[in-house]
Amino acid sequence: MNHFAEIAAHLAEEHLDAVLLTGEANRFYASGFHSTGGDGVALVSRNGSYYFTDSRYIEAAEAQVEDAAIGMTDRERPYSAWINEAISLSGIKTLGFEDDTMTVAEFRMYEKKLNCQMVPASDFLHRLRRVKDAEEVERLIGAQRIAEGALEQILKEIRVGMTEKEIAARLQYLMLAGGAEKMSFDPIVASGPNGSMPHAVPTERRIQDGDFITMDFGCVYRGYCSDMTRTVAMGGVSEEMDRVYHTVLQAQLAGIAAARAGVTGREVDAAARRVIEEAGYGSCFGHSFGHGVGVEIHEQPNASPVNENALPCGAVISAEPGIYLPGKFGVRIEDVILLTEDGCRDITRSPKELVVL
Ligand code: ZN
Ligand code: ZN
Repeated sequence: MNHFAEIAAHLAEEHLDAVLLTGEANRFYASGFHSTGGDGVALVSRNGSYYFTDSRYIEAAEAQVEDAAIGMTDRERPYSAWINEAISLSGIKTLGFEDDTMTVAEFRMYEKKLNCQMVPASDFLHRLRRVKDAEEVERLIGAQRIAEGALEQILKEIRVGMTEKEIAARLQYLMLAGGAEKMSFDPIVASGPNGSMPHAVPTERRIQDGDFITMDFGCVYRGYCSDMTRTVAMGGVSEEMDRVYHTVLQAQLAGIAAARAGVTGREVDAAARRVIEEAGYGSCFGHSFGHGVGVEIHEQPNASPVNENALPCGAVISAEPGIYLPGKFGVRIEDVILLTEDGCRDITRSPKELVVL
């Protein structure tokens, strides 16, 4: 799978002759070639694509990159030399670059050495990546299933006395053993009062009777991320815990019911937020309802109060409202949904009824 043609097809309307892809996410999106943290540059022009890398990656690149000319960089022939050759071969005058990931030092170097004009193009690439094709959806679902398998197993293992760190470590092991390439982010495991911090870092705190345990985790499968959160209870729940859990669940279901192509990110967020506000917890839900998920764990589009743009068909976003009560506990429930013309498909299968361990 690669997206060279997809990118090339949109260059004219962006008034670009080509784009230079230097960041890992867009290089992978364009080429389908995963080089872990490694060096490499993809260049997509209106009449041909290129992939340049060094001796450490060239063998794998030659085997895996299709539909592009491949070149090996070395001291005599650095990236700028290969790119300049492509610039003259493909007649490139205006070259888009990744203004949100390229360092200032790299930009200055390229600007000085390349025989063309460089213009910011990150926004264009983010817009393209918002809409997922069938292959991308299949990979996102694959990543999701691995995470769900890890959840099913960890629920059998959590005991009073286990630390948050131990749970996080097991989740990582289970996802890797289940076929994940790596984590899509460091797992969040927050128990008891730690649960009121939406992005808590797992601690040595031991699980106690009466705790809520929030686990937010995901993995990367064939280059695509999963993201899910479940909050489970140990021992039993108070009336307030039960009320808060079901408010979050109703809010999530309301947001999912409102989510479809053509509605704005703000409208989807508002549908969920209204449920939380009406229950009297409006001030306890500080973050957005959802974010796009794909090659990166956080990408466009956002289902947030400030996104006035219509969500496109084929976008994949998280649905993750929460209520956080400082000093007490927190609840968040997160699925990932695929937007369609007439609604959405929840690609997360794990049950959401309150689980009491
Ligand atoms: Zn998450
Ligand atoms: Zn998320």
